[in-house]
Amino acid sequence: VAGEVALSQPGSLQPSETIRAGLLFGDSEVIAGTPRREQAVALTSVEVLSFDARLLANCQQQGGRISTILTALASAHKLPQLGTVYRYLAQVDHQPCLVSDYAKPSGQRIRVRYFAHLPQLEAARQDVSGATVTLASPDRSRLIVLTPAGIVTGLTVHGEWNQLPDAMSLVLRGGSLADWQRKAFQSSGELLLENATSRTPAGAEIICACTNSTTSMLRAAARNATCVDDLTRTTGAGGICGGCRARLPLFLGHLEVSLCRLRRTPLAEGAIRIGLEAVDETPLPAAQAGQFIRVEALIDGAWVGRPYTLIGASARAYELGVKLEENGFFSNWLNTATDGTLVRVLPPQGDVCPAADDPRPLLYVVAGIGVTPAVAGVRQLATHRPIHVLYSFRSPAVAACLDELQTAAATGHIQLLQHCTAELGRLDAEAVAKFAATLGAAEVVVCGPGDFNRMVLSKLAENPALTLKADSFDHPQRGEGQLLQPGGWRRKNFTPDYPAGPPIPRGAKVPPAEQAEQFLREFAAECPGRCQLPERIQQAQDELADSGVWNMTAEELGFAARIAWRNAERCVGRLYWNGLHLRDCRHMTEPAQMAEAMFEHLRFAWNGGDLRPAITVFSPGTRDVPGPRIWNPQLLRYAGYRLRSGKQIGDPAQNAVTEKIMQLGWQPAGTDFELLPLVIQTAEHGPRMFELPADCRPEVRLSHPQHNWLLERGLKWYAIPAVSDMALDAGGIMYRMIPFNGWYLNTEIAARNLTDSNRYNLLPELAERMGLDLSSERTLWRDRAMLMLHEAVLHSFDRAGVKIADHHSVCHEFLEFCRNEQAAGREPTGKWMWLVPPFSSSATILYQEPFRDRAFKPAYCLQKPVW
Ligand SMILES: Cc1cc2nc3c(=O)[nH]c(=O)nc-3n(C[C@H](O)[C@H](O)[C@H](O)COP(=O)(O)OP(=O)(O)OC[C@H]3O[C@@H](n4cnc5c(N)ncnc54)[C@H](O)[C@@H]3O)c2cc1C
Repeated sequence: VAGEVALSQPGSLQPSETIRAGLLFGDSEVIAGTPRREQAVALTSVEVLSFDARLLANCQQQGGRISTILTALASAHKLPQLGTVYRYLAQVDHQPCLVSDYAKPSGQRIRVRYFAHLPQLEAARQDVSGATVTLASPDRSRLIVLTPAGIVTGLTVHGEWNQLPDAMSLVLRGGSLADWQRKAFQSSGELLLENATSRTPAGAEIICACTNSTTSMLRAAARNATCVDDLTRTTGAGGICGGCRARLPLFLGHLEVSLCRLRRTPLAEGAIRIGLEAVDETPLPAAQAGQFIRVEALIDGAWVGRPYTLIGASARAYELGVKLEENGFFSNWLNTATDGTLVRVLPPQGDVCPAADDPRPLLYVVAGIGVTPAVAGVRQLATHRPIHVLYSFRSPAVAACLDELQTAAATGHIQLLQHCTAELGRLDAEAVAKFAATLGAAEVVVCGPGDFNRMVLSKLAENPALTLKADSFDHPQRGEGQLLQPGGWRRKNFTPDYPAGPPIPRGAKVPPAEQAEQFLREFAAECPGRCQLPERIQQAQDELADSGVWNMTAEELGFAARIAWRNAERCVGRLYWNGLHLRDCRHMTEPAQMAEAMFEHLRFAWNGGDLRPAITVFSPGTRDVPGPRIWNPQLLRYAGYRLRSGKQIGDPAQNAVTEKIMQLGWQPAGTDFELLPLVIQTAEHGPRMFELPADCRPEVRLSHPQHNWLLERGLKWYAIPAVSDMALDAGGIMYRMIPFNGWYLNTEIAARNLTDSNRYNLLPELAERMGLDLSSERTLWRDRAMLMLHEAVLHSFDRAGVKIADHHSVCHEFLEFCRNEQAAGREPTGKWMWLVPPFSSSATILYQEPFRDRAFKPAYCLQKPVW
C-alpha cells in the first residue's frame, strides 16, 4: 500500500483494520473464487497493483517470490488485540526462517523470525527508534532489548526456553520489566513474571486494614495518582498506622524492591534462620533495630509475601528468624525453598525502633518468635543502652536465638531473664511489672502473641515511669497465597457473639418499645460512649407512648441506616455498609422541599461519576398522621407503557406506575428511555409531581469496544440506582420514604433490566445484530449476546467514568465483608439466590458458598406502593 486503506466487513460502517504504507493486502478469495469476506476502501490516494487472477494462480503453483507473497497473504490471521499477523518463509543470511509480521491495531509493528533448524528466535519491534538497553542471561543464550523506560522491544533466544511464551508476550503486548525483574534476568536468566491467574485483579485483598482499602479500590485510585501521597489522600490507605505504605508504590507501578537470594539454616526446633543476600552490588536499604521487611516470593506464578522483623541488616544481606507456623503457607514454603531462590524484598519499615541515644534502660518483654525485635535491639543497641530481655518460651529447644542472647548476657552486654513455660507455667504479668519497676524510668518493648501483649501491656500501663511500645505479628495478609477453598474463609467453631443481646429477626412481631430498647443497646455496644443507655431507652419509650414514634438522633438514625445495609440479606455489595452517608430530612413538610432534597441527594450521590452511597430519610409521621411517600420505585426509572397498537414502549416493569403518573397529567415523549418525574404524596397535599432537573439525570450510553453498531442502537441506562420504594424498619419505627443508593453492579443492567423477557427483552435483537444463529438453543446465542452486553455495560460505564461493580470483584468483596463480620463476632447471613450474580454464576467465587438465610432489624423492607 502506498496510502491508507480501510478494511471492513461487508455491511459495517466501521473499518475493522486500517492498512498503512508498507504493508500488503489482497484478497485470496478472488483467486479461490469464493465469496469475499472484506471490503477495502481507500482513505487516501493509493496505488493499486492489478494482476490477472489466473496468472497469479499459476505463479502460486510454480513457487518463487510471488508465491511467497501470496502464501503470506493467504496465511494472514487476525488475532484478538494483536491485530493482523502475516506469516511467510524467508532467507536471512542464507538461513531459512519463518517470519511473522505483526501489525497491531495501535500501529506497532513487530517482526518475529524463527530459525527452526538452530533453533533460534528473534523478535523485534520495527517502529521504535532511539536508545535501547540489552540484557543478557548469565550464559548469554537469551537477550532482551528494552527502552530506557523498561518496555521490552526485542528478544533473541538460542535453544529451548520454557519461559519463551511469557517473553514473547512481553514483546507482543509491549510489557515492561521493573528494575528488580531485570536484575533477576541478568543473574538467573529467568523472568520473574506472575501467571495469568494471579494477574487477574481479584480485587478484594485488603491492603490497608485501617481503612479497608482493597486492591481494586487502590487500583482505581492509582489511575489518577502519581505518588503514594495521592493514593493516601484519595483512599486514606497508609495514612493511619502506615503499615501498608511500603506496598502502595506497587499500585503506581513504581515498587521499590531489592532482589535477594535466599539461604536457610536451622535456628531452633520449629524455627529457621533466613539469610537474604543482595543479587548485585546495589546496597540494601539500611534498617533500624525493630524494623521489618516484607519478603515476597513467586510461588506458582503468584507473588506471595509476609512481613518479618530484621534481626540483622547490612548493605549486603538481611537476616530473619522465622517460626514454622502450623498450617502456615509462607513460613513452610521458606523451609522448603531451594537455597539461592530469588525473592523480592520491600524496604524496611515500622516505627517500634528504640533510639540508640536514649539513655534510659530498654526492656524487651518477648514471647516465642516475638524475640526477633529483641535480638535486633541487642545486636544494634547493647553498646549504647542498658538492655534487659525478659524472654518467655515453651522450652529451650524451641527458643529461637536463645544461645545468642545467653552469650550476650554472659559477656555482660545485657541482662537476660528466661521464663520457660513448660516448667514455670504462664508468665505472670505481676512479676513483669515488679521487675520493670526496678528499672525506674525505662522504655519497654512488648512482642508476643496478641493475648500475651494485652496481658503484659495492661499491667505495665499502671506504671507511669514506663514508655510502652508493642509489636504484633498479626496482619491482614495472613493466609494469603493459599488456594482458596469454598468455605475456607469461615472461622472454625465460630459462634456469633451479640454483646447487646440477640438481634430481632425481620418480620418478628415485637412491641415497638422493646425494639427501641434493643436498637439502642446495639447502638451503645457499637458506638461506645455516645449515649447514656438507661436514660436514652426511657426517653425513647416515653416518646413512643406519647405519639407512637420516638425521635432518633441523627447519629442513631445514621447507625440504623448503615446497620440495615449490613443486614440486607439480598445485597452482595455490603462491604461498604459503613460508608453510607445520611441526609436527615425528617423536618421537611412541603412536597416541593422534599423533591429538592431528593434532587440534592442525586447530586451528592453522583459526585462527578465517583458515586457515593447515600440515604435521605424523611419523616416517619406519627400515630395519627402518616409520613410522606414517594410513588417512584427508584428516583431514576424509565417509564413504560403500551401504545394502542399494543407496542410496548420503555420498561414494562414500570407500566403500572407510569399509567398512574400519566393520570396526574404527565405526557411521555415516546422514547424507550424516558425518566419518570417524581411523585411525592403527603397526607396534607396529596400526590405532587416534579420533573427531574437536567443535572439530576446522569445516564450512560452503551457502546462496545468491538461491536460498533451498538452505539448507533441508542441503548443507555441511568447511572445511579437509587431505590425509593422500600421502608427502613428500625427501633420500632417504620420510615417509609428513605431513598438510598449505592452504585450499579453490571449484572443488574445487563442480565436483568435490559434482558429479562418481561423487561427490555433485548437478547434476540442483539443476537441477530451480532450475526448469531437463532434457529437453535444449542448455538448459545442468548449466552453470547448476554456476554456482549455485559462487556458493553462495563466498557461504557468505565469510559464515562461512572463507578460500577463487576460480578466477579463484587463476590470477592462480599467474602471480605463476611470475614470482617466474623472478625466482629457476627455471622454473615444472606439469601444465596440474591447474592450469587445471575450471570456466569458458577464462575464467581460465591457459587459454592452457602449462607444462613436470616435477616435482622434494622432492615430495609418492601412495602405496598402508595398509588
Ligand atoms: C510486623 C511483623 C513482623 C513479623 N516478624 C516475624 C518474625 O520475625 N518471625 C516470624 O516468624 N514471623 C513474623 N511475623 C509473622 C509473619 O509475617 C507470618 O505471619 C508468619 O510467618 C506466618 O505466615 P505463614 O504464611 O506461615 O502462615 P499463614 O498461612 O499466614 O497462617 C498463619 C496461621 O494463621 C492461621 N490463619 C491464616 N489466616 C487466618 C485468618 N484470616 N484468620 C485466622 N487465622 C488465620 C493459619 O491457619 C495459620 O495457623 C511478623 C509479622 C508482622 C506483622
